[in-house]
Amino acid sequence: MSMDSERLVVLGLDGATWTVLDPMIARGWMPNLAALLSRSAHGTLRSTVPPVTSAAWTTMQTGANPAIHGVFDHRYYDAASGQMKVNHSGRIRVPTTWQLLSDAGRSVVSLNLPGTFPPPKVRGVIVAGMDAPHLDAALTGYPEFAAKLKTEAPDYTLRYFWKRPPETLEELTENARLTAESFRGRAEGGLVADRFVPDWSVMMVQFQNLDPFQHRAWRYLNVDETGIDAPAWNDAAGEVIRGLDRAVGILYELAEKRGARVLAVSDHGFGPCLGRVHVNRILIEAGIAALPSTGGKLMRSAAKAVENLRLWSAKRDDPEARSASFDLSVFAQFPFDWNRTAAFAPHQDTAAMIYLNRKNASSSGRRDDVVKSTIQALEAARHPELGTPLFPQVIDMAAAHGLDPEKEGYPDVLALPDEPYWVRTKLAPGSAWVEADSALPGTHRPEGIVAFSGAGIAPGRNLKANLVDIAPTILSLFGRPIPSHVEGSPLPCLPNLATTRLDAPSAPLSGPHQSEFEYSAEDQAIIEQRLADLGYLE
Ligand SMILES: [Zn+2]
Repeated sequence: MSMDSERLVVLGLDGATWTVLDPMIARGWMPNLAALLSRSAHGTLRSTVPPVTSAAWTTMQTGANPAIHGVFDHRYYDAASGQMKVNHSGRIRVPTTWQLLSDAGRSVVSLNLPGTFPPPKVRGVIVAGMDAPHLDAALTGYPEFAAKLKTEAPDYTLRYFWKRPPETLEELTENARLTAESFRGRAEGGLVADRFVPDWSVMMVQFQNLDPFQHRAWRYLNVDETGIDAPAWNDAAGEVIRGLDRAVGILYELAEKRGARVLAVSDHGFGPCLGRVHVNRILIEAGIAALPSTGGKLMRSAAKAVENLRLWSAKRDDPEARSASFDLSVFAQFPFDWNRTAAFAPHQDTAAMIYLNRKNASSSGRRDDVVKSTIQALEAARHPELGTPLFPQVIDMAAAHGLDPEKEGYPDVLALPDEPYWVRTKLAPGSAWVEADSALPGTHRPEGIVAFSGAGIAPGRNLKANLVDIAPTILSLFGRPIPSHVEGSPLPCLPNLATTRLDAPSAPLSGPHQSEFEYSAEDQAIIEQRLADLGYLE
Protein backbone atom coordinates (compact mmCIF):
# COMPACT_ATOMS: atom_id res chain seq x y z
CA MET A 1 0.00 0.00 0.00
CA SER A 2 1.41 3.38 -0.89
CA MET A 3 1.55 5.97 1.82
CA ASP A 4 -0.93 8.17 -0.04
CA SER A 5 -3.70 5.61 0.24
CA GLU A 6 -2.87 4.76 3.86
CA ARG A 7 -5.82 5.02 6.22
CA LEU A 8 -6.23 4.39 9.93
CA VAL A 9 -9.24 3.91 12.19
CA VAL A 10 -8.42 4.55 15.86
CA LEU A 11 -10.78 3.09 18.44
CA GLY A 12 -10.47 4.89 21.77
CA LEU A 13 -11.69 2.52 24.48
CA ASP A 14 -11.72 4.51 27.72
CA GLY A 15 -10.45 2.38 30.60
CA ALA A 16 -10.25 -0.85 28.59
CA THR A 17 -8.34 -3.67 30.26
CA TRP A 18 -7.61 -7.29 29.37
CA THR A 19 -8.97 -8.13 32.84
CA VAL A 20 -12.39 -7.42 31.33
CA LEU A 21 -11.93 -7.96 27.59
CA ASP A 22 -10.46 -11.48 27.84
CA PRO A 23 -13.31 -13.00 29.88
CA MET A 24 -15.89 -11.10 27.80
CA ILE A 25 -14.42 -12.58 24.62
CA ALA A 26 -14.46 -16.01 26.32
CA ARG A 27 -18.16 -15.52 27.11
CA GLY A 28 -18.78 -14.94 23.40
CA TRP A 29 -19.86 -11.33 23.98
CA MET A 30 -17.20 -9.66 21.82
CA PRO A 31 -17.08 -11.46 18.47
CA ASN A 32 -16.00 -8.35 16.57
CA LEU A 33 -13.15 -7.57 18.94
CA ALA A 34 -12.13 -11.25 18.81
CA ALA A 35 -12.02 -11.08 15.00
CA LEU A 36 -9.99 -7.87 15.17
CA LEU A 37 -7.52 -9.35 17.67
CA SER A 38 -7.03 -12.47 15.55
CA ARG A 39 -5.54 -10.13 12.96
CA SER A 40 -3.75 -7.71 15.30
CA ALA A 41 -0.51 -7.38 17.15
CA HIS A 42 -1.82 -6.61 20.61
CA GLY A 43 -0.84 -6.36 24.26
CA THR A 44 -0.52 -3.87 27.08
CA LEU A 45 -0.32 -0.10 26.87
CA ARG A 46 1.09 1.72 29.89
CA SER A 47 -0.72 4.96 30.67
CA THR A 48 0.75 8.27 31.63
CA VAL A 49 1.55 9.52 35.15
CA PRO A 50 -1.01 10.22 36.51
CA PRO A 51 -3.35 7.74 34.74
CA VAL A 52 -6.19 10.26 34.60
CA THR A 53 -8.50 10.29 31.56
CA SER A 54 -7.89 13.87 30.40
CA ALA A 55 -4.12 13.71 31.00
CA ALA A 56 -3.88 10.34 29.26
CA TRP A 57 -5.85 11.20 26.11
CA THR A 58 -3.77 14.37 25.81
CA THR A 59 -0.71 12.13 25.94
CA MET A 60 -2.25 9.90 23.29
CA GLN A 61 -2.75 12.94 21.03
CA THR A 62 0.70 14.42 21.57
CA GLY A 63 3.12 11.60 22.38
CA ALA A 64 4.25 13.58 25.44
CA ASN A 65 3.69 13.20 29.17
CA PRO A 66 1.87 15.83 31.30
CA ALA A 67 5.03 17.72 32.33
CA ILE A 68 5.42 18.58 28.63
CA HIS A 69 1.82 18.81 27.37
CA GLY A 70 0.58 20.55 30.52
CA VAL A 71 -2.63 18.61 31.34
CA PHE A 72 -2.57 16.64 34.63
CA ASP A 73 -6.27 16.32 35.40
CA HIS A 74 -9.72 17.39 34.21
CA ARG A 75 -9.11 20.61 36.16
CA TYR A 76 -6.12 22.65 37.21
CA TYR A 77 -5.41 25.01 40.05
CA ASP A 78 -5.05 28.56 38.83
CA ALA A 79 -2.96 30.12 41.57
CA ALA A 80 -3.41 33.68 40.25
CA SER A 81 -7.19 33.59 40.77
CA GLY A 82 -7.07 31.01 43.57
CA GLN A 83 -9.60 28.93 41.64
CA MET A 84 -9.96 25.51 40.15
CA LYS A 85 -10.55 25.70 36.41
CA VAL A 86 -11.36 23.15 33.73
CA ASN A 87 -8.63 22.23 31.25
CA HIS A 88 -9.34 22.63 27.53
CA SER A 89 -7.67 22.20 24.16
CA GLY A 90 -6.10 25.67 24.32
CA ARG A 91 -4.05 24.59 27.33
CA ILE A 92 -2.22 21.80 25.51
CA ARG A 93 1.28 23.17 25.08
CA VAL A 94 2.45 21.13 22.10
CA PRO A 95 0.88 20.40 18.71
CA THR A 96 -1.37 17.35 18.55
CA THR A 97 -1.11 14.58 15.96
CA TRP A 98 -4.34 15.82 14.41
CA GLN A 99 -2.88 19.31 13.91
CA LEU A 100 0.38 17.94 12.50
CA LEU A 101 -1.41 15.65 10.03
CA SER A 102 -3.82 18.39 9.03
CA ASP A 103 -0.92 20.82 8.46
CA ALA A 104 0.59 18.17 6.17
CA GLY A 105 -2.58 18.11 4.05
CA ARG A 106 -4.16 15.00 5.60
CA SER A 107 -7.84 14.94 6.53
CA VAL A 108 -8.59 13.94 10.09
CA VAL A 109 -11.79 12.88 11.86
CA SER A 110 -11.82 12.85 15.66
CA LEU A 111 -15.04 12.16 17.55
CA ASN A 112 -15.45 12.53 21.33
CA LEU A 113 -11.79 12.65 22.30
CA PRO A 114 -11.15 14.47 25.62
CA GLY A 115 -8.84 17.46 25.18
CA THR A 116 -10.46 18.67 21.97
CA PHE A 117 -12.76 21.37 23.33
CA PRO A 118 -12.99 23.96 21.91
CA PRO A 119 -12.54 21.90 18.74
CA PRO A 120 -9.35 22.99 16.95
CA LYS A 121 -9.66 23.89 13.27
CA VAL A 122 -8.29 21.07 11.12
CA ARG A 123 -8.73 19.66 7.64
CA GLY A 124 -11.61 17.29 8.38
CA VAL A 125 -13.76 17.30 11.50
CA ILE A 126 -13.17 17.39 15.26
CA VAL A 127 -16.10 16.88 17.61
CA ALA A 128 -15.21 17.44 21.26
CA GLY A 129 -16.04 15.04 24.09
CA MET A 130 -16.54 15.19 27.84
CA ASP A 131 -14.87 18.59 28.25
CA ALA A 132 -17.58 20.23 26.13
CA PRO A 133 -20.54 21.50 28.16
CA HIS A 134 -23.06 20.06 25.67
CA LEU A 135 -23.27 18.60 22.17
CA ASP A 136 -23.82 21.93 20.41
CA ALA A 137 -20.62 23.21 22.00
CA ALA A 138 -18.78 20.01 21.05
CA LEU A 139 -19.82 20.64 17.44
CA THR A 140 -18.80 24.31 17.24
CA GLY A 141 -16.43 24.97 14.40
CA TYR A 142 -17.95 22.42 12.02
CA PRO A 143 -21.55 23.60 11.52
CA GLU A 144 -22.18 21.71 8.28
CA PHE A 145 -21.07 18.46 9.85
CA ALA A 146 -23.10 19.30 12.97
CA ALA A 147 -26.27 19.52 10.87
CA LYS A 148 -25.54 16.21 9.16
CA LEU A 149 -24.68 14.44 12.40
CA LYS A 150 -27.89 15.54 14.07
CA THR A 151 -30.10 14.27 11.26
CA GLU A 152 -28.16 11.17 10.25
CA ALA A 153 -26.96 9.95 13.67
CA PRO A 154 -29.59 11.15 16.17
CA ASP A 155 -28.24 8.78 18.85
CA TYR A 156 -24.90 10.60 18.87
CA THR A 157 -25.08 12.35 22.27
CA LEU A 158 -22.90 13.48 25.16
CA ARG A 159 -25.09 11.72 27.71
CA TYR A 160 -23.77 9.90 30.78
CA PHE A 161 -25.62 7.23 32.68
CA TRP A 162 -23.58 6.00 35.63
CA LYS A 163 -24.15 8.56 38.37
CA ARG A 164 -24.14 5.87 41.07
CA PRO A 165 -23.75 2.10 41.33
CA PRO A 166 -26.99 0.52 40.09
CA GLU A 167 -29.27 -0.33 43.00
CA THR A 168 -31.68 -2.60 41.17
CA LEU A 169 -31.46 -5.01 38.28
CA GLU A 170 -33.84 -2.73 36.39
CA GLU A 171 -31.52 0.26 36.87
CA LEU A 172 -28.52 -1.74 35.70
CA THR A 173 -30.44 -3.05 32.68
CA GLU A 174 -31.71 0.39 31.68
CA ASN A 175 -28.35 2.13 32.07
CA ALA A 176 -26.65 -0.66 30.14
CA ARG A 177 -29.18 -0.29 27.33
CA LEU A 178 -28.64 3.48 27.17
CA THR A 179 -24.87 3.04 27.26
CA ALA A 180 -24.96 0.52 24.41
CA GLU A 181 -27.14 2.96 22.49
CA SER A 182 -24.59 5.75 23.09
CA PHE A 183 -21.85 3.48 21.71
CA ARG A 184 -23.93 2.78 18.61
CA GLY A 185 -24.56 6.52 18.17
CA ARG A 186 -20.83 7.16 18.39
CA ALA A 187 -20.04 4.53 15.72
CA GLU A 188 -22.81 5.91 13.49
CA GLY A 189 -21.16 9.30 13.88
CA GLY A 190 -18.12 7.66 12.31
CA LEU A 191 -20.23 6.57 9.33
CA VAL A 192 -21.56 10.11 8.91
CA ALA A 193 -18.01 11.47 9.06
CA ASP A 194 -16.93 8.92 6.44
CA ARG A 195 -19.53 10.37 4.05
CA PHE A 196 -18.75 13.98 4.99
CA VAL A 197 -14.94 13.67 4.85
CA PRO A 198 -14.47 10.90 2.26
CA ASP A 199 -10.73 11.51 1.98
CA TRP A 200 -10.04 10.99 5.70
CA SER A 201 -6.62 9.56 6.56
CA VAL A 202 -7.28 9.02 10.27
CA MET A 203 -10.65 8.49 11.90
CA MET A 204 -10.63 8.37 15.68
CA VAL A 205 -13.80 7.45 17.60
CA GLN A 206 -13.60 7.54 21.39
CA PHE A 207 -15.95 5.56 23.67
CA GLN A 208 -16.04 7.45 26.98
CA ASN A 209 -18.93 5.69 28.70
CA LEU A 210 -16.96 2.50 29.27
CA ASP A 211 -15.04 4.33 32.03
CA PRO A 212 -17.92 5.52 34.27
CA PHE A 213 -19.67 2.17 33.72
CA GLN A 214 -16.65 0.34 35.11
CA HIS A 215 -16.29 2.81 38.00
CA ARG A 216 -19.85 2.11 39.12
CA ALA A 217 -20.59 -1.43 37.96
CA TRP A 218 -17.20 -3.16 38.14
CA ARG A 219 -18.33 -5.93 40.46
CA TYR A 220 -21.21 -6.94 38.17
CA LEU A 221 -18.74 -7.72 35.41
CA ASN A 222 -17.60 -10.55 37.71
CA VAL A 223 -14.06 -10.76 36.38
CA ASP A 224 -12.01 -10.88 39.59
CA GLU A 225 -12.15 -11.66 43.30
CA THR A 226 -14.38 -8.62 43.97
CA GLY A 227 -16.91 -9.83 41.40
CA ILE A 228 -20.52 -10.61 42.24
CA ASP A 229 -21.56 -13.92 40.76
CA ALA A 230 -25.20 -13.27 39.88
CA PRO A 231 -26.06 -14.42 36.35
CA ALA A 232 -28.95 -12.00 35.74
CA TRP A 233 -26.84 -9.00 36.88
CA ASN A 234 -23.73 -10.21 35.05
CA ASP A 235 -25.74 -10.59 31.86
CA ALA A 236 -27.31 -7.13 32.29
CA ALA A 237 -23.85 -5.55 32.74
CA GLY A 238 -22.71 -7.57 29.74
CA GLU A 239 -25.01 -5.53 27.52
CA VAL A 240 -22.56 -2.61 27.82
CA ILE A 241 -19.79 -4.90 26.58
CA ARG A 242 -21.91 -6.41 23.81
CA GLY A 243 -22.97 -2.89 22.78
CA LEU A 244 -19.36 -1.76 22.68
CA ASP A 245 -18.52 -4.77 20.54
CA ARG A 246 -21.33 -3.99 18.09
CA ALA A 247 -19.99 -0.44 17.78
CA VAL A 248 -16.48 -1.81 17.24
CA GLY A 249 -18.01 -4.06 14.55
CA ILE A 250 -19.54 -1.09 12.70
CA LEU A 251 -16.20 0.71 12.58
CA TYR A 252 -14.21 -2.44 11.81
CA GLU A 253 -16.48 -3.05 8.83
CA LEU A 254 -15.95 0.54 7.68
CA ALA A 255 -12.18 0.08 8.03
CA GLU A 256 -12.33 -3.08 5.91
CA LYS A 257 -14.38 -1.29 3.26
CA ARG A 258 -11.88 1.57 3.09
CA GLY A 259 -8.76 -0.57 3.34
CA ALA A 260 -7.85 1.07 6.64
CA ARG A 261 -5.70 -0.28 9.45
CA VAL A 262 -7.27 -0.42 12.89
CA LEU A 263 -5.54 0.75 16.06
CA ALA A 264 -7.43 0.15 19.32
CA VAL A 265 -6.11 1.99 22.38
CA SER A 266 -7.14 2.62 25.97
CA ASP A 267 -6.12 5.67 27.97
CA HIS A 268 -5.51 3.57 31.11
CA GLY A 269 -6.57 0.21 32.48
CA PHE A 270 -9.04 -0.65 35.21
CA GLY A 271 -9.40 -2.74 38.33
CA PRO A 272 -11.27 -2.98 41.62
CA CYS A 273 -11.21 -0.02 44.02
CA LEU A 274 -10.64 -0.90 47.69
CA GLY A 275 -11.08 2.60 49.10
CA ARG A 276 -10.07 6.23 49.03
CA VAL A 277 -7.02 7.79 50.64
CA HIS A 278 -7.62 11.12 52.40
CA VAL A 279 -4.47 12.94 51.36
CA ASN A 280 -5.25 16.20 53.17
CA ARG A 281 -5.74 14.34 56.47
CA ILE A 282 -2.20 12.99 56.11
CA LEU A 283 -0.89 16.52 55.45
CA ILE A 284 -2.80 17.83 58.47
CA GLU A 285 -1.41 15.13 60.78
CA ALA A 286 2.09 15.95 59.57
CA GLY A 287 1.53 19.63 60.40
CA ILE A 288 1.91 20.66 56.76
CA ALA A 289 -1.72 21.74 56.51
CA ALA A 290 -3.86 23.01 59.36
CA LEU A 291 -7.52 23.37 60.16
CA PRO A 292 -8.63 26.64 61.76
CA SER A 293 -9.36 27.17 65.40
CA THR A 294 -13.03 27.60 66.24
CA GLY A 295 -13.03 31.39 65.83
CA GLY A 296 -11.43 31.17 62.40
CA LYS A 297 -13.81 28.40 61.43
CA LEU A 298 -16.82 30.58 62.22
CA MET A 299 -15.38 33.46 60.23
CA ARG A 300 -14.78 31.14 57.32
CA SER A 301 -18.26 29.62 57.31
CA ALA A 302 -19.71 33.13 57.41
CA ALA A 303 -17.57 34.09 54.40
CA LYS A 304 -18.60 30.92 52.62
CA ALA A 305 -22.28 31.57 53.27
CA VAL A 306 -21.95 34.99 51.68
CA GLU A 307 -20.15 33.50 48.69
CA ASN A 308 -22.81 30.79 48.32
CA LEU A 309 -25.54 33.41 48.41
CA ARG A 310 -23.80 35.38 45.68
CA LEU A 311 -23.50 32.26 43.53
CA TRP A 312 -27.03 31.22 44.22
CA SER A 313 -28.39 34.54 43.03
CA ALA A 314 -26.16 34.40 39.96
CA LYS A 315 -27.41 30.94 39.10
CA ARG A 316 -31.02 30.88 40.21
CA ASP A 317 -32.18 31.16 36.60
CA ASP A 318 -30.16 28.11 35.67
CA PRO A 319 -31.41 25.16 37.72
CA GLU A 320 -29.04 22.83 35.86
CA ALA A 321 -25.99 24.65 37.12
CA ARG A 322 -24.29 23.34 40.19
CA SER A 323 -25.15 25.32 43.28
CA ALA A 324 -21.80 24.81 45.01
CA SER A 325 -19.91 25.79 41.92
CA PHE A 326 -16.29 25.57 41.05
CA ASP A 327 -16.52 29.28 40.90
CA LEU A 328 -15.68 29.28 44.58
CA SER A 329 -12.04 29.90 45.23
CA VAL A 330 -10.13 27.02 46.79
CA PHE A 331 -9.75 29.23 49.84
CA ALA A 332 -13.51 29.12 50.31
CA GLN A 333 -13.88 25.47 49.26
CA PHE A 334 -11.18 24.11 51.54
CA PRO A 335 -11.61 25.37 55.11
CA PHE A 336 -7.92 25.23 56.03
CA ASP A 337 -6.28 27.75 58.26
CA TRP A 338 -4.49 29.30 55.32
CA ASN A 339 -1.95 31.12 57.47
CA ARG A 340 -0.76 27.81 58.90
CA THR A 341 -1.10 25.70 55.75
CA ALA A 342 2.12 25.26 53.77
CA ALA A 343 0.85 22.76 51.18
CA PHE A 344 -2.51 21.25 50.27
CA ALA A 345 -4.21 19.01 47.70
CA PRO A 346 -7.10 20.82 45.97
CA HIS A 347 -7.85 18.19 43.33
CA GLN A 348 -7.49 14.51 42.85
CA ASP A 349 -8.35 11.63 40.67
CA THR A 350 -6.14 8.62 40.47
CA ALA A 351 -3.35 10.71 42.01
CA ALA A 352 -2.96 13.35 44.71
CA MET A 353 -1.83 16.70 43.31
CA ILE A 354 -0.27 18.86 45.98
CA TYR A 355 0.53 22.57 45.68
CA LEU A 356 2.46 24.84 47.97
CA ASN A 357 0.35 27.56 49.53
CA ARG A 358 2.18 30.46 48.00
CA LYS A 359 0.11 32.99 49.93
CA ASN A 360 1.74 31.70 53.06
CA ALA A 361 4.83 33.87 53.40
CA SER A 362 6.66 31.34 55.55
CA SER A 363 6.30 28.58 52.95
CA SER A 364 7.30 30.65 49.94
CA GLY A 365 10.73 31.29 51.43
CA ARG A 366 11.36 27.64 52.23
CA ARG A 367 9.96 25.80 49.25
CA ASP A 368 12.47 22.98 49.42
CA ASP A 369 11.69 22.28 53.10
CA VAL A 370 7.95 22.16 52.51
CA VAL A 371 8.31 19.87 49.50
CA LYS A 372 10.69 17.63 51.44
CA SER A 373 8.40 17.28 54.44
CA THR A 374 5.37 16.72 52.17
CA ILE A 375 7.16 13.91 50.37
CA GLN A 376 8.32 12.41 53.67
CA ALA A 377 4.80 12.48 55.12
CA LEU A 378 3.25 10.87 52.05
CA GLU A 379 5.97 8.25 51.67
CA ALA A 380 5.69 7.34 55.34
CA ALA A 381 1.89 7.01 55.26
CA ARG A 382 0.85 3.39 55.74
CA HIS A 383 -2.43 1.55 55.41
CA PRO A 384 -3.72 1.27 59.01
CA GLU A 385 -4.46 -2.47 58.78
CA LEU A 386 -2.21 -3.76 56.03
CA GLY A 387 0.86 -1.63 56.81
CA THR A 388 1.47 -1.13 53.08
CA PRO A 389 2.54 2.27 51.71
CA LEU A 390 -0.47 4.37 50.74
CA PHE A 391 1.58 6.32 48.19
CA PRO A 392 4.26 4.03 46.72
CA GLN A 393 5.26 6.71 44.21
CA VAL A 394 5.71 10.33 45.30
CA ILE A 395 7.17 12.68 42.72
CA ASP A 396 8.95 15.98 43.36
CA MET A 397 7.91 17.68 40.12
CA ALA A 398 10.74 20.22 40.12
CA ALA A 399 13.43 17.59 40.65
CA ALA A 400 11.90 14.96 38.38
CA HIS A 401 11.29 17.24 35.42
CA GLY A 402 13.74 20.09 35.88
CA LEU A 403 11.01 22.70 35.92
CA ASP A 404 9.61 25.35 38.23
CA PRO A 405 6.10 24.21 39.24
CA GLU A 406 5.09 27.72 40.30
CA LYS A 407 6.12 29.19 36.96
CA GLU A 408 4.44 26.39 35.00
CA GLY A 409 1.28 26.31 37.13
CA TYR A 410 1.92 22.62 37.89
CA PRO A 411 1.50 20.71 41.15
CA ASP A 412 4.64 20.72 43.29
CA VAL A 413 4.20 17.10 44.30
CA LEU A 414 2.37 14.28 42.58
CA ALA A 415 1.57 11.24 44.72
CA LEU A 416 0.29 8.02 43.19
CA PRO A 417 -1.73 5.85 45.56
CA ASP A 418 -1.29 2.11 45.78
CA GLU A 419 -3.09 0.75 42.70
CA PRO A 420 -6.42 -0.39 44.21
CA TYR A 421 -6.99 3.02 45.81
CA TRP A 422 -8.37 6.36 44.73
CA VAL A 423 -7.57 9.71 46.32
CA ARG A 424 -9.96 11.97 48.19
CA THR A 425 -9.25 15.64 48.89
CA LYS A 426 -12.51 16.84 50.40
CA LEU A 427 -12.22 17.89 54.04
CA ALA A 428 -15.03 15.65 55.27
CA PRO A 429 -15.59 14.95 58.98
CA GLY A 430 -13.51 12.05 60.26
CA SER A 431 -9.85 11.23 60.63
CA ALA A 432 -9.24 7.84 58.96
CA TRP A 433 -6.63 7.92 56.23
CA VAL A 434 -8.36 5.21 54.19
CA GLU A 435 -12.10 4.88 53.79
CA ALA A 436 -14.13 2.41 51.79
CA ASP A 437 -16.26 3.99 49.08
CA SER A 438 -19.22 1.88 48.05
CA ALA A 439 -20.04 4.40 45.29
CA LEU A 440 -16.79 3.58 43.53
CA PRO A 441 -16.18 -0.18 43.23
CA GLY A 442 -13.77 0.23 40.31
CA THR A 443 -10.86 2.53 39.54
CA HIS A 444 -8.07 3.11 37.04
CA ARG A 445 -4.93 1.02 36.60
CA PRO A 446 -1.81 2.15 34.74
CA GLU A 447 -1.85 -0.80 32.37
CA GLY A 448 -4.34 -0.64 29.49
CA ILE A 449 -4.64 -2.25 26.08
CA VAL A 450 -3.44 -1.79 22.51
CA ALA A 451 -4.17 -3.68 19.28
CA PHE A 452 -2.91 -2.83 15.80
CA SER A 453 -4.01 -4.57 12.60
CA GLY A 454 -3.30 -4.21 8.89
CA ALA A 455 -0.91 -5.21 6.12
CA GLY A 456 2.53 -6.28 7.34
CA ILE A 457 1.54 -6.73 10.99
CA ALA A 458 1.95 -10.21 12.46
CA PRO A 459 -0.92 -11.06 14.82
CA GLY A 460 -0.33 -12.19 18.38
CA ARG A 461 -0.29 -10.93 21.94
CA ASN A 462 3.23 -9.61 21.75
CA LEU A 463 3.08 -5.84 22.38
CA LYS A 464 4.22 -4.12 25.57
CA ALA A 465 3.95 -0.46 24.71
CA ASN A 466 3.40 2.96 26.26
CA LEU A 467 0.72 5.51 25.58
CA VAL A 468 3.40 7.96 24.39
CA ASP A 469 4.12 5.49 21.54
CA ILE A 470 0.76 6.03 19.84
CA ALA A 471 1.32 9.53 18.42
CA PRO A 472 4.72 8.66 16.86
CA THR A 473 3.19 5.46 15.43
CA ILE A 474 0.46 7.45 13.69
CA LEU A 475 2.83 10.17 12.49
CA SER A 476 5.28 7.63 11.08
CA LEU A 477 2.50 5.67 9.40
CA PHE A 478 1.70 8.80 7.37
CA GLY A 479 5.34 9.63 6.69
CA ARG A 480 5.47 12.57 9.07
CA PRO A 481 8.56 13.37 11.12
CA ILE A 482 8.37 12.94 14.88
CA PRO A 483 8.68 16.31 16.70
CA SER A 484 11.17 16.56 19.55
CA HIS A 485 8.46 16.92 22.23
CA VAL A 486 7.39 13.31 21.52
CA GLU A 487 8.69 10.98 24.24
CA GLY A 488 7.67 7.63 22.73
CA SER A 489 8.61 5.52 19.72
CA PRO A 490 6.53 3.88 16.99
CA LEU A 491 5.10 0.46 17.87
CA PRO A 492 7.61 -2.19 16.80
CA CYS A 493 5.05 -4.34 14.97
CA LEU A 494 5.55 -2.48 11.67
CA PRO A 495 9.27 -3.14 11.24
CA ASN A 496 9.63 -1.38 7.91
CA LEU A 497 8.22 1.90 9.13
CA ALA A 498 10.66 4.68 8.25
CA THR A 499 10.83 7.17 11.09
CA THR A 500 12.36 10.61 11.08
CA ARG A 501 12.94 12.52 14.27
CA LEU A 502 13.19 16.28 14.37
CA ASP A 503 16.05 17.46 16.58
CA ALA A 504 15.13 21.10 16.79
CA PRO A 505 12.88 21.50 19.80
CA SER A 506 9.39 22.58 18.83
CA ALA A 507 9.58 24.64 22.04
CA PRO A 508 6.66 23.65 24.24
CA LEU A 509 4.95 26.70 25.65
CA SER A 510 5.87 27.34 29.23
CA GLY A 511 4.49 29.32 32.10
CA PRO A 512 0.97 29.25 33.53
CA HIS A 513 -0.42 28.67 30.10
CA GLN A 514 -3.17 31.07 29.11
CA SER A 515 -5.11 30.92 25.90
CA GLU A 516 -7.79 33.14 24.46
CA PHE A 517 -10.47 30.69 25.48
CA GLU A 518 -12.07 30.62 28.94
CA TYR A 519 -15.12 28.61 29.97
CA SER A 520 -18.05 30.72 31.08
CA ALA A 521 -19.02 30.18 34.72
CA GLU A 522 -22.17 28.36 33.54
CA ASP A 523 -20.30 26.01 31.21
CA GLN A 524 -17.72 25.27 33.88
CA ALA A 525 -20.55 24.49 36.31
CA ILE A 526 -22.10 22.06 33.82
CA ILE A 527 -18.81 20.24 33.31
CA GLU A 528 -18.12 20.15 37.03
CA GLN A 529 -21.56 18.70 37.63
CA ARG A 530 -20.81 16.01 35.05
CA LEU A 531 -17.46 15.25 36.70
CA ALA A 532 -19.21 15.08 40.06
CA ASP A 533 -21.91 12.79 38.62
CA LEU A 534 -19.23 10.49 37.33
CA GLY A 535 -17.48 10.41 40.71
CA TYR A 536 -14.42 12.44 39.73
CA LEU A 537 -15.05 15.24 42.19
CA GLU A 538 -17.34 16.15 45.02
ZN1 LIG B 1 -10.33 7.18 31.13
